[in-house]
Amino acid sequence: MCLICVEIAKSKMTVNEARQQLREMRHGLDKAHVAEVETKLDEAEKAAGENP
Ligand SMILES: [Zn+2]
Repeated sequence: MCLICVEIAKSKMTVNEARQQLREMRHGLDKAHVAEVETKLDEAEKAAGENP
């Protein structure tokens, strides 16, 4: 769990904003967690596309 996860969970951040943050933060994060966040973003994006 990192800042990005928290913001996504609260819907305080769009997927695009979260991806930007992830690019900036990924070096400070665990590789496995970066993959986890990317999966979350993909799912959030898909969900948004299905339910606009
Ligand atoms: Zn996280």
